[in-house]
Amino acid sequence: MTVPKIIKTFKTSDINSENAELPEKQEFHSKNKSANKIGTDYNFKRQTIWKLVLFYGTLHVLGWYGLYRACVYCHTVTVLYSIIVGVASQIGINMGAHRLYAHRSFKAKLPLRIALVILDTIAGMYTLYYWVRDHRQHHKYTDTDADPHNSSRGFFFSHVGWLMSKKHPAVREYGKTIDVHDLESDKAVMFQKRYYLPLYVFLNSIIVAVPVWLWNETALNSIFASYFFRYSLFFNITMCVNSWAHFFGSKPYDKNIRPAESNVLSFLVVGEGWHNYHHTFPWDYRAAEFGLHYSLTTFLIDLSNKFGLAYDLKCASKQMVQKRSLRTG
Ligand SMILES: [Zn+2]
Ligand SMILES: [Zn+2]
Repeated sequence: MTVPKIIKTFKTSDINSENAELPEKQEFHSKNKSANKIGTDYNFKRQTIWKLVLFYGTLHVLGWYGLYRACVYCHTVTVLYSIIVGVASQIGINMGAHRLYAHRSFKAKLPLRIALVILDTIAGMYTLYYWVRDHRQHHKYTDTDADPHNSSRGFFFSHVGWLMSKKHPAVREYGKTIDVHDLESDKAVMFQKRYYLPLYVFLNSIIVAVPVWLWNETALNSIFASYFFRYSLFFNITMCVNSWAHFFGSKPYDKNIRPAESNVLSFLVVGEGWHNYHHTFPWDYRAAEFGLHYSLTTFLIDLSNKFGLAYDLKCASKQMVQKRSLRTG
């Protein structure tokens, strides 16, 4: 496979080059040198927000009931449709919120940005603006008390517990240092931020209405399968990147960090499970080593690149990856 010209491959020497675009871009997500000093206070007692426990608990009960209805009452096409919508919304998070906006690993033309923001809204992981802020903070202070979903505090906390707990004081304090000003000039992101709730309700209402309109599914079946079941399933798949990917797998690129490589997770999260590589080279649009792994998300970025909708794709050269692997892997 040849690398198209609009892909920028960085070499080890670029890291120290004053003119290289890479170091300044790394400001968005690279690990803060003081992060190791923050560490994790294992005696810190988290404060549970009970109304959020009730909210996520109810959502999951409805999700399980949605699975039951999907298996017993729904048309097969409704179940397939729900999965397809879930995967598409996952692309909104992976390709849009994560690789495009949080890490600036490529640039995108407005039509592509609008499409990704729509898919991200359907996913329902809250506004892209705050998602990016939290994710940049996660990379900057990985697995310390300043990381919103610090996996050192346990699997459950990094999976969903952090969403139902009061923020650690360090998350608040260091959160103020996270720069998201670049998002303020992006019309698609700011539109979503301004009208998030009505947009979310409108788009998901259309998602639920399609099976009723097109193949006479009952409204109740469609609500439970294409909303509650789909949302609960893909919510947990997405959250596995914060939990599972920081607990299980190999560490060929940096053995000193918790994030690890997982083929199974990458299959489920359409390409975001090679997490040891991603935390080592967060600005690489492939989120995986070239030639070793390939995902639907990477395929869609490459495809958009071919059609001129995505450009300036950044990736690490083979030599850069090998050098880093020998040094820290
Ligand atoms: Zn991570
Ligand atoms: Zn990331």
